[in-house]
Order: sequence, then structure tokens, then C-alpha cells
Amino acid sequence: MQLTRRSFLKLTGAAAATATLAGMGLNTASASAAYPLRIKYTKEVPTICTYCGVGCGIICSVRDGVIVNAEGDPDHPINEGTLCSKGSSIFNVSYIYEEKGKPIVNPKRLTKVLYRAPGASDYEEKDWDWALDEIAKRIKDTRDRTLVETVDVGGRQVTVNRTNAINWLGSAWCTGEENYLFHKMARAMGVINIDHCARL
Ligand code: SF4
Repeated sequence: MQLTRRSFLKLTGAAAATATLAGMGLNTASASAAYPLRIKYTKEVPTICTYCGVGCGIICSVRDGVIVNAEGDPDHPINEGTLCSKGSSIFNVSYIYEEKGKPIVNPKRLTKVLYRAPGASDYEEKDWDWALDEIAKRIKDTRDRTLVETVDVGGRQVTVNRTNAINWLGSAWCTGEENYLFHKMARAMGVINIDHCARL
């Protein structure tokens, strides 16, 4: 088939229209048969994106206690309905759509602790109590081993009580109040290398 400039534009225009309809949740197999609206019979629950400190607004559509859709909140003053690629995929943190469009729990979601020992090539499953005890033990060991109590400043011993061996990173999955408490705890232990992806 010979492709003229006009037929090329026609073809790409049709493809773009098809993609747009698909993106709107419409069945492109037949122009007249609309795909059932995902947000039908749902309750709108506004929330905030948990990925970063920008704090974009998201509307979750919930049906029978299950989130069936998540999209940018057009009334939110920060993002005005837009979401970046991370926020746009937030639905998949918990769910995916199966073949017929029904949301199911994302089978790739990690629900168990996976631990890879130093030098090991495979992960092994551990329980949460083990993980929390191990984290606490390693933090305490490192802190006790590396704590510097005083430094010499011009012949005078100045108390610093600090360790350079631990780096503390806050999480955008936590609230500002939780990150405030993490920060306090890190300071209390003498950690001075503290950061957060949103610089909280
Ligand atoms: S990750 Fe993206 S969508 Fe989420 S708050 Fe940050 S900028 Fe907004």
C-alpha cells in the first residue's frame, strides 16, 4: 500500500483517537458499545499521594470497600487533577485489573519480610518480629561502636555525642508528624546524617 502524506495523517489520527478512547475507559472495538464505567456505583474518597512531599490530591473510587480507581483530584489546589507517573500508578500499589476489568489484589505486592544475608544470592522469608529485632539490634550495635562523645576544639574537649556511621532517611509514606518523631529519635541517638526525599 502506498502511503501518501494524507493517508499517513488519517491513519495516525485514527490511532490517536483509538488510544484516547481506550484511555477514557471506552471499548474501541465498537464505537457504539461503551465499556462499563469504572467509577459507577462508587464512593469518592479524597486522599493525598503518598509518594513524595508535593502532596498531590487523589480521588479514590471505592466500591464495597475496594478501591476500583484512583485519579488526580481536579479540585485540589496543588495538582489541579494532574499526577506524575508515580502518582498515576498509585492504584497498582494495592490492586491490578484482571482480564475482565475487575480489580484484584496485586499479586506482586510484598506482604512478607524478605531478607538477603550478607554474601547470599537468595532472599529468605522472615517474620516481622525477627526483622524489627534485627533492625533495632544492628542500629544499637553500630551506634554504640561508633559514638564519638567529645572532639578536640583548640585544646578544649567539646561534647558532641554523635555517630557518622548511620544515615537516617525519612519516608514519604509517613506523615509529617511521623517524620518529625523519626527525626527526634535519630537526633537522640546521635545520628547527624538525616535526610528525606522531600527534605522534611
Ligand atoms: S509522587 Fe507525583 S503525584 Fe505523588 S505527590 Fe509527588 S508529584 Fe504528586
